[in-house]
Amino acid sequence: CTPGGPKVREENILVTVRMRPLSSKELASYDLVAWDIADGNTVVSKNLYHERHAGSYTFDKVFDTTCSTSRVYEEGARDVALSALSGINATIFAYGQTSSGKTFTMRGVAEHAVKDIFKHMNFTPEREFLLKFSALEIYNETVVDLLNRESGCLRLLDDPERGTIVDKLIEEVVKDDQHLRHLISICEAQRQVGETALNDKSSRSHQIIRLTIESSLREDSGCVKSFIASLNLVDLAGSERATQTNTDGTRLKEGSHINRSLLTLTTVIRKLSGGKRSGHIPYRDSKLTRILQTSLGGNARTAIICTMSPALSHVEQSRNTLLFATSAK
Ligand code: ADP
Ligand code: MG
Repeated sequence: CTPGGPKVREENILVTVRMRPLSSKELASYDLVAWDIADGNTVVSKNLYHERHAGSYTFDKVFDTTCSTSRVYEEGARDVALSALSGINATIFAYGQTSSGKTFTMRGVAEHAVKDIFKHMNFTPEREFLLKFSALEIYNETVVDLLNRESGCLRLLDDPERGTIVDKLIEEVVKDDQHLRHLISICEAQRQVGETALNDKSSRSHQIIRLTIESSLREDSGCVKSFIASLNLVDLAGSERATQTNTDGTRLKEGSHINRSLLTLTTVIRKLSGGKRSGHIPYRDSKLTRILQTSLGGNARTAIICTMSPALSHVEQSRNTLLFATSAK
């Protein structure tokens, strides 16, 4: 007797790549497109000037510049998002360099996921659902509540039953989809408040929107299944903060721009993928991975949408993104 939810694919980590169109700035500076997409699942280097970037990279799916966010959601996130309705913890990330389209993509994914979750709850009258919303930002390894910035820097606590919890983080009970959209818009406004105070903050901070779904059968049919699961929607810091190299490939003199949470996340994902599940997984090395621990690996489902610019001027960072995506498969 399983809790009734939509079918979820077997793979634990779904890795897709989305290429945005050239920006107006890139067009104005006569930037070139450095990549082709073949067969809907492979990114191929056009090898314009950089012999050393030659190569092709294949994934579950590659979305070209014309793909709508609704298709990205359907094929790159939906199964993972809906698994939370069957009691399976889920995380959806956007990974990519600053200005590659992470926020653009995650906003759309959140919107579609919200619609889908309410649709499913409405079509499952035999179950009772309780939906809770919370949202936080991690900046410089400090955790801030996006529903209540005034509460300052929040502590992480270890709960014997629930794992790592964020102390004093507000959890709002969601009334309906309109209420949920309202909560998301509050968080977006809150994120922008910090943004003006500190210029390149969005490239350094991570945002997590967490929907916690509690569900139980309305009538005791002898196979009562209650569960609690969370769906985490994560807009990561720019991936340039996970690498030690400069845009021209040279090593940086100092690692001060390195983002501990992002670097640890990439290590955790690498260790979880490709059958390397055994061995120590360093969840506890950063705030981000501690918070997401129960929603990464184990039975949890993960979708990683890697975003990239097609521009030649960003070819080195795009290649780093493709290498990360390859290691996550
Ligand atoms: P990031 O969050 O990775 O720094 P953004 O999501 O802010 O990047 O995107 C940078 C700019 O590119 C924004 O103006 C955004 O609207 C635009 N953009 C990103 N992805 C797409 C896309 N797939 N199609 C059209 N415009 C996009
Ligand atoms: Mg962003």
